[in-house]
Amino acid sequence: MARYTGSVCRICRRENIKLFLKGDRCYSDKCAFDRRGYAPGEHGQRRRGKFSDYGVQLREKQKVKRMYGLSEKQFRLFFQRADRQKGITGTNLLVFLERRMDNVVYRLGFVNSRNQGRHLVRHNHFLVNGRRVNIPSYLLKVGDVVEVREKSTKIQAINDSLDAVVRRGVPQWLDLEKDKFKGVVNNFPVREDLTTPMQEQLIVELYSK
Ligand code: SF4
Repeated sequence: MARYTGSVCRICRRENIKLFLKGDRCYSDKCAFDRRGYAPGEHGQRRRGKFSDYGVQLREKQKVKRMYGLSEKQFRLFFQRADRQKGITGTNLLVFLERRMDNVVYRLGFVNSRNQGRHLVRHNHFLVNGRRVNIPSYLLKVGDVVEVREKSTKIQAINDSLDAVVRRGVPQWLDLEKDKFKGVVNNFPVREDLTTPMQEQLIVELYSK
């Protein structure tokens, strides 16, 4: 199935949680979830029904998949890779998702959403260890240095996003040198670093059926 291209605010309303998919708008009083916290669609204002076990697992998978902006195929491939690794499959999956280039530039504050990150990565605005990387799914390693290309440091969207990074904060597994438009991957994240409510075990159960 192709990547979701509809209104991203509908995803937050559907999953009943703010997923911060739209950058600055998410922190403003224009946030659709704050204004209309009920499910989208004609019957959205009805009381949310109870889900079956399968329904709960499916919703959790859809939430995480859409939060990171992946297609079903990409998400499942990450799951299979996480399952083959040692350790807890659910945690492995989240760590893989966090290591993606589009996510790291978002976490470092160079962009204000993963969607914008994907767009700017594809357009060659970032370097990894001094080399151009334009693949949003590129997986970063510990010690990798991610920086904005010199000619791209004038891009307004990048500067605006860096100005707003104080509000969002940079996770402890990354280091940002804001003035140099540069960041370093110190470690891989641990589960406690991921503060968005996610029940990855439900995803494991879903895919293990
Ligand atoms: Fe979700 Fe952001 Fe839209 Fe609010 S503005 S509903 S947090 S994507």
